[in-house]
Amino acid sequence: MSEPRLAFNRHKNTENSVYSESPENKAVTGAPLDTLAQLRKRAFSKYVTDEIIYPLIDLNSTFKGRYWDTFHCVRILEQNDEGKCTSKYCKHRWCIVCNRIRTAKLIKGYSPVIEGMAEPYMVTLTAPTVSGNNLLDEIERRQKVFRRILDLSRKQKMPIRGIRKLEITYSKGMFHPHFHIVVENKRQADYLLSEWIQRNPNAKKQAQDVSKCDKNTIHELFKYMTKMWSKEKANELLLPYPAEVMDIIFKAMYKKRTVQAFGGIKQVQEEINDEEATIYLEEARNVFWIWQKTAGTWIDFTTGEMRTESALSMVEQTEKKITYLCNNAIQQQT
Ligand SMILES: [Zn+2]
Repeated sequence: MSEPRLAFNRHKNTENSVYSESPENKAVTGAPLDTLAQLRKRAFSKYVTDEIIYPLIDLNSTFKGRYWDTFHCVRILEQNDEGKCTSKYCKHRWCIVCNRIRTAKLIKGYSPVIEGMAEPYMVTLTAPTVSGNNLLDEIERRQKVFRRILDLSRKQKMPIRGIRKLEITYSKGMFHPHFHIVVENKRQADYLLSEWIQRNPNAKKQAQDVSKCDKNTIHELFKYMTKMWSKEKANELLLPYPAEVMDIIFKAMYKKRTVQAFGGIKQVQEEINDEEATIYLEEARNVFWIWQKTAGTWIDFTTGEMRTESALSMVEQTEKKITYLCNNAIQQQT
């Protein structure tokens, strides 16, 4: 193989992802997405996913095959003579590549809804932590309690409208599922909080939160359902919790909605498809780009050409910056 060289040194590309094609998308994304930035971010997401997927595969859990799917996600990028870059995506929630695509879709779908609310508030609802064995039951219990509160609000002719996100964190052997909910106004937020406290007598009042939404709210709402990585040493990305713990969280959330619209707001599907992940280049040529982790990008093995700059330099960034890079599917372009 000859010395790798950058495809972008020779070709100026612009990208129109599915999220930036229509006029209404432009309201969310601003200028058309920059292909180089987009592809580099995807390479970076792939790199981080590769780092965290091995410990999950090594667990030999019942999800092993699914974790392997993620290993194979976007390994081959097929560029055609129309400039279309397609691949097979695993679509799992623990895949950082797929999750960024999903996040972009959710932001695009729900941004107009939240922007259309006169005085949106964010409510955080918690209850005491639970063991891994009780996690699934506890999530279902809380979802049921939430539904009852919505039913009651409807009966009282004070329906609540909003979007609910489920997140799970972990500390000292215990799991902490909680809801972040955006509602239309303070009255709805206070109602939700007071009904939640009544139905969760063990929940501490100071562990709940009601606050006015700001411009970061949408991003906060749609980021990962759980923390996906941490960085303890330079250039070393790790799972934030032991692999067994991550496995429990992923199993509890498997095929469940993490984001739920209610009160008549149209649900945005969390599922993504390969078409939604497609990248469009102006550069028209037929190339199979193969993912090469040590290079931090996809490579044309017939020429040694690199599809993007290496993602490795981005791994040297701080954890905060990495979180930003990985989470930030659209906001960065606005
Ligand atoms: Zn994937």
